[in-house]
Order: sequence, then C-alpha cells, then structure tokens
Amino acid sequence: MLRIAEHFHDSDLGRQRRGNEDSFYVRAPLFVVADGMGGAQAGEVASAIAVQQFEGGLPDGDDPGAALAALIQAANLRIFEQARSESEHAGMGTTTTAAYLAGDAVVIAHVGDSRCYLLRDDDLLRLTRDHSLVGELVARGKLTEEQAESHPQRSVITRALGAYPDVEVDVEAFPVRSGDLFLLCSDGLTSMVHEPQLKLLLADRERSLERIGRDLIAAANDAGGRDNITVILFRIEAVDDRRAVAARADDSAQTAEYDTFAGEAAEPRQAVSKPSATGAAVADPEARRHGTVALQALDPDDGRAAPGGTGDSPPPRRTAQLPAGREREPPRVKRRSRLRSGGALLLFLAVLLPLVIGAWLATRAVYFIGTDPADGRTVTIFRGLPYELPFGLELYERYYDSGVTLAGVPPARRAGFTDHKLRSRDDAEDLVIALEKGEVE
Ligand code: CA
Repeated sequence: MLRIAEHFHDSDLGRQRRGNEDSFYVRAPLFVVADGMGGAQAGEVASAIAVQQFEGGLPDGDDPGAALAALIQAANLRIFEQARSESEHAGMGTTTTAAYLAGDAVVIAHVGDSRCYLLRDDDLLRLTRDHSLVGELVARGKLTEEQAESHPQRSVITRALGAYPDVEVDVEAFPVRSGDLFLLCSDGLTSMVHEPQLKLLLADRERSLERIGRDLIAAANDAGGRDNITVILFRIEAVDDRRAVAARADDSAQTAEYDTFAGEAAEPRQAVSKPSATGAAVADPEARRHGTVALQALDPDDGRAAPGGTGDSPPPRRTAQLPAGREREPPRVKRRSRLRSGGALLLFLAVLLPLVIGAWLATRAVYFIGTDPADGRTVTIFRGLPYELPFGLELYERYYDSGVTLAGVPPARRAGFTDHKLRSRDDAEDLVIALEKGEVE
C-alpha cells in the first residue's frame, strides 16, 4: 500500500503582480492548484471557486477519476454562471489541476496550463498537456518545446473553467511507486523556470521538500517573477512497518491539516499604504493576454519594480477541527473572578497548575482512534484524551493519519475505529497498520 510520505505547498505573489490569482487546496492525498484569469478581482474569484469545490473531499466508493472530473465540471458551471450574472466577474476563468493518490495510482484531472510533473529516479515526466495555443502547436509538431517557451502567445489558453457551461476534463491514472515525487504548479513557475532547471532543483534528494519548494519559488522570482507562483510537492512511499509509522508520526501531526489558499485581489490603489506601491503603474503585457489588467508598481524612489516577496503574499488559511462526532462547544463566557489578581495567581500556582501539568502529562501517554476532523472519514490516531476544554483547549493532538478512510473498514469493525476508546500507542498503531495492510476483516 502506498501513501503520501510528505508534502509541501506555497503560493507566492511573484515580483510583478499586485494580487494573487492562484488558489490551492491541499489535504493529502488530494492536491489541487488553480490559476485564475479575468478582470480585476475576478481571476482570484474563479480560482477560489475551483478549489472550494474540493473541500468536501471525494465521494467514497466512486471511481476517483470520474469524481475529480465531476468536481471540476461542477466548479466550471458555478464559475460560468457567476461570470454571466455578475458584471464585475464577466469573462473570469481558471485552470484547475488536481492529483489524488488512490491505491497504487495517482489520478490526475486537468484543464488549462497549470502542470503536473513526476520525478521518478532521475527522469522528469510532464503528466499533463497544456491546453494553450502553443501547447496545441507543440502537440501537433508545429513548434518545439524551446520555441514554445519564448513564444509571444504562450499565455493564450484554449481550455479553461468558466468559458462555457461544459468543460472537457483530461483524466488519467498513473501507476506510482515508493519514492515518486510529484509537482503541481501554476505557469508562474514553468514560464520562468524551464524543465532542465526544474529537474535539477527537484532531483536533489538530500534536501527536504520544503527546501526544494522554496528554491523553486526563489528560482522563478530570480528569473523575473512575472506571475504568481504556486508550488505543491508530494512524495509517495510504501506503508511498511511500525518503524516507518513512528518516524512519520511527528510529521503527520503537522502535515495532516488541510490548507487552502484563495487568491487575493490586489489592494485598491488608494488603500495601499506602502510607499513602494504608490508609484506609476504600467500594464503587464502578459497579464493583458490573460485578460487581466495587472498593475506593476514602480518604486517612486528609484523607478525599479517593487518586489513582491513572500512577506507580501497572504498566508494560507488553516483549519483544524474536532474529531468527527464531537461538536465544538462555543467558548463559555466566564464571570469575572472576584479574587484580586494576586490571590488568583497564588491559587493558580498552588492548585491549578499542578492539575494542568498532570493532565497534560496524562494526555501524552494515551491514544485513541477516530476520523479526521477535516473530512470525517480518514482513520486517524490521536494522542491525548478525546475531550475539549472551554475556550477551545483541546486535550488531544493528531498523531498519525492513515491512508484509509472509514469506508475501507469492514462495516462490522467500524465501531472500533470511531469509539474513541483510549489505547496504548502500540495498540493504536497495530490496529491502524493492520487496517492499512488490509488485514482487518
Ligand atoms: Ca498564471
């Protein structure tokens, strides 16, 4: 059985755009990138609608390729209708490239010119075909890849979400194996960093995915950063034994949350307070080809383009929720204590602090199995107690995300994966590993 070993994702403004029209949705084993286009404050709306469509995950039991295509179709219709009914969104559209690990294959559903690459051993394979003018010309043998990279019409897209009520989605499943490294990206990366350099940056196995991802974004910015740059990386590994689980458990706590990022419009010019962003503006010719009017800010001091580094790009929104079956209580409003603050502090130090520390230590030693709060389906090991204190203080943390959803558990055994029974770590790991290996019957 294969699973996602680690992943990285980020979206960067680039150096010349004032808003970010890219959006992404990341929740292993599902990864989606969307690159919006359209008038001011429309491209990011289109790409955000596209990735929002994936937030409920894939319906269980469906053919994952058909499910991905259906989600993209649904997003297409929503964008099309919104573009038609709201004049400020007229003409908006977006690319969408989604990748989903299903069993021993990664299924890719794709529209537009964002791309998916696979690095296997030392080969870099492009798994998607660009739905762009130059992409079609390359496919027909009329242009070489090198000519396409510098072609003046390379930004003209021939297929996107939002243009018509229906959209044709390319869907393909690629058998994968342990060690495979996938890259999903918007054209802000590939138009700046061409494949030989891309391969060099991806192939250095000594570096973490985070390092590789940051280097890819930096390379695009170093080459000019003409467009928003979104990079998603994920590596596949085989589920083998508990040693691997233990080694990954700490990572899992960090990576299992889902991240979604919706592109953000450039700030209205009068609202921009930074001196570097108030200078003269020139239209980016490439943006015009995408139908956008992106403004390139000039620094009034020296006339150079103001760089838009990571510090300027909006942070991805993070969401973490309770295990399924437990509703988050609204924080209770406590009456103000009548104790003087000094007395309250003494009481806290003498009585409550040891209790808090004791409870915290206790939560480190026990584990329970439940489902991932983000999708309510993925079988997950939590460390701690399945309770939440007022003010949102959780007595548990995510310890290990399995590669199996509840639908993969035989119905007679499901209760054992949802009852939140307290277990030792070994016990919880043994049960979940058996499930991942298909040994729970
Ligand atoms: Ca783009």
